[in-house]
Amino acid sequence: MRGMAGIRNIVILTGAGISAESGLRTFRADDGLWENHPVEQVATPQGFRRDPELVQRFYDERRVNVLAAEPNAAHRALARLDSEWDGELLIVTQNIDDLHERAGATRVLHMHGEALSAWCLACDARHRWTGTLLDGPACPTCGEIALRPDIVWFGEMPYEMERIFAALARADLFVSIGTSGAVYPAAGFVQQAKSARARTLELNLERSQGSGWFDESRLGPASELVPAWVEEVLT
Ligand SMILES: [Zn+2]
Repeated sequence: MRGMAGIRNIVILTGAGISAESGLRTFRADDGLWENHPVEQVATPQGFRRDPELVQRFYDERRVNVLAAEPNAAHRALARLDSEWDGELLIVTQNIDDLHERAGATRVLHMHGEALSAWCLACDARHRWTGTLLDGPACPTCGEIALRPDIVWFGEMPYEMERIFAALARADLFVSIGTSGAVYPAAGFVQQAKSARARTLELNLERSQGSGWFDESRLGPASELVPAWVEEVLT
């Protein structure tokens, strides 16, 4: 990926690998577990209907862990790119933490929702939420007790797909960071970008299921690969 001539619009997809280095673990596709819970139990609408207390407690814990985590060098490098890149940039993250934002990035889209957000099923309002939902707090907007984690569960539609596909259609460069390429629709972004004639780069700990789609794959920890790549882009 030497040389950025002709590149103006960048779309970046980030996944679990970038937050893992900040100590946050997410759902693992290989064993179907998230922090020792089967994903059907804690990350589906059916699981929430079956045992709302267990699900609220699970995301209360995720909220605590997110608040305790710190951005790492990869988050900081992308924040630097965000502030210094004059062209279009969209950081699409599959992660529910706010580490991109806390590192200073602003052009971030959370396609799978946010741990620090609560969604009211009664009035559809969303509120930044850092405390517990287990004890059934009232919605600050409508007063109903109907808040759920603002997380896109399996079987639900990821957020802002139209905006993501519009950005991919304009992209000159698509970069995938720390994601397994196993979960659709994000796994299909590289194909969308390629059909828009974008160059494609993968930065990942190991070769992913989608590696064959990328023009270039660099293997290693995000905290090393991302700062080095951003340095190349900005110099
Ligand atoms: Zn409400």
